[in-house]
Amino acid sequence: MAFQSVSHPTIGTVRQALPQKNTLARRDNRVAVACPPVKPLNFKSKYHIRQQVHVQAAAGLRAGDLGENAGESFFPTSDTEVAVNGEEIPTEPPFRIGHGWDIHRMESKEIAGQGCVIGGVLIPDFEHNGVIMGTVAHSDGDVLYHSTTDAILGALGLPDIGQLFPDNDPRWDGANSEQFMDEAVRLMELRGYRIMNVDVTLILQKPRVAAHKAAMKENVVRILHTIPARVNIKARTHEKVDSIGESRSLSCHCMVMMERS
Ligand SMILES: [Zn+2]
Repeated sequence: MAFQSVSHPTIGTVRQALPQKNTLARRDNRVAVACPPVKPLNFKSKYHIRQQVHVQAAAGLRAGDLGENAGESFFPTSDTEVAVNGEEIPTEPPFRIGHGWDIHRMESKEIAGQGCVIGGVLIPDFEHNGVIMGTVAHSDGDVLYHSTTDAILGALGLPDIGQLFPDNDPRWDGANSEQFMDEAVRLMELRGYRIMNVDVTLILQKPRVAAHKAAMKENVVRILHTIPARVNIKARTHEKVDSIGESRSLSCHCMVMMERS
């Protein structure tokens, strides 16, 4: 596979896999992907149509995107599609809803190799059974950011966070998960949507997060390009049962609604 070095505003210089087919080199060193001819709308072709690259969206690719896996390649390619009953239905409804869920294992900070980041807040060291704990993850393991990213991607009908940012990709080793949210927001805005409201439920026994919820909310409001009145973050325990309740893991649910902007 061919690679090129590209500069990314938050990640720095990275090696990006070049799409192997239909690649056109552009003068500004970005990569445009030629759109294959659109097949007629029918049941068999729907999957293929979703895989085709939307030429307009591809023009919006920024350096550092995931090349052939860029989220844009999964955008609808037409304004309407025909349902089984023959009804022509818009591909982009006025509202979309998405759900995201994430869980990460917790181990000693020494084994995890990092502390605990939730909602972009580095939680001060906390102990469980006399051991300082950390989150086990390829990235920073931010369950709040990961579930919110997945909720946005899910609402848009796009591949999930693990597909867009594979955990075997060295680029995301210890990564600040804000860049995953940034990418989901970029895709949302490219599709013509904005956040209607977000409701987050953290489920964890430790650490205690009450004192950090305001800072987490401030981060989410900023990254989602929205306002405080549209974001809610709440937290509860797992009643000391199962892995979450025994502080061996922590998890988060997120619901997102978006509206045409
Ligand atoms: Zn995660």
